[in-house]
Amino acid sequence: MKYIDEYHNPRAVAAFAEKIKSITSRDWNIMEVCGGQTHAIVRHGLDQLLPDRITLLHGPGCPVCVTPLSIIDKAIEIAGRENVIFCSFGDMMRVPGSAGDLFSVKSAGGDLRVVYSPLDALRIAQENPDKEVVFFGIGFETTAPANAMSILQAGLVGLENFSVLSAMVLIPPAMEVILSSDNNKVDAFLAAGHVCTVSGFEQYEELSAGYSVPIVVTGFEPLDIIQGIYMSLAQLEDGRAMVENQYSRSVKREGNAEARRVMEDVLTIVDRRWRGLGMIESSGLAISDKYRQYDAEEKFGKVDDISDQSGECISAEILKGTRKPFDCPAFGTRCTPENPLGATMVSSEGACSAYYSYRKLDLQKTGLE
Ligand code: SF4
Repeated sequence: MKYIDEYHNPRAVAAFAEKIKSITSRDWNIMEVCGGQTHAIVRHGLDQLLPDRITLLHGPGCPVCVTPLSIIDKAIEIAGRENVIFCSFGDMMRVPGSAGDLFSVKSAGGDLRVVYSPLDALRIAQENPDKEVVFFGIGFETTAPANAMSILQAGLVGLENFSVLSAMVLIPPAMEVILSSDNNKVDAFLAAGHVCTVSGFEQYEELSAGYSVPIVVTGFEPLDIIQGIYMSLAQLEDGRAMVENQYSRSVKREGNAEARRVMEDVLTIVDRRWRGLGMIESSGLAISDKYRQYDAEEKFGKVDDISDQSGECISAEILKGTRKPFDCPAFGTRCTPENPLGATMVSSEGACSAYYSYRKLDLQKTGLE
């Protein structure tokens, strides 16, 4: 299939792997920000094509993984109310809160619906005028325009029983937290191509210059990723640090002007807690005052700010790139996709889930299974 198959060409991937080997002169750590990239890397074994001196770190770009406990708990509380239909993407249903998950609310009789778009939730609100319909709005810059559009649409048709519980977050502030931490290991980033399709990459230029770190805006197919790694590495080996765009077939420097305009109209930037990374200044998107009637926190009360789970789950370190799923003593034994202890095992884009799905043989070699 044109535009897909050509990015899966094994010979082209192998050629980039050879070029990477030929220019690598020392140890480097490269972080792919996006969970979709993590999934593709592990699924296609791209990390296994690289020289030992290059380590890929798996970043915080999985929206399911970074939604904090406090918002999950609020979602569970709202979903358990009698007059509410709670709509969510399927991945969020099994993310553990302080006590239980959204599925447990459904088992107890709550009206939860798995939807594929905020517009599905809008339709459900139109069909159920006597119920409050709440959409769980998670995601990064990629999904924020669609969430914002659903609010605009609700206003246009005069819906009063629709609201959004926002857990939307912005990627650049999280990258800055990683770069500025004392134990930062990241030498270069692969930035998430779909996020930049909306936001562009001007903000990344400030980050790259401020921290002298190469950032390559990268797509999601195997050839995209291996080329993004090569471009990052070429900068590192040359002593350069700038933003480059591997995903130019989709991303423009200024992003998508119309999507940004809708986001700026409907949403406002706030401080937000990330699971694993803690509170990050100006990293969240909430519903702006102008559209507050569609804000679930206005209707059902504010999210209590509680800190993340502790215990044996080390997903916080995994999301910062300081540890890997195999470092977790619960991996593949007490924690599996069927019985996840942490969010990074729930979503298919979570690093623990990707390792579990595609590294079974390595798991067996470690004697964990
Ligand atoms: S394997 Fe499970 S418990 Fe361990 S870090 Fe991953 S999600 Fe947390």
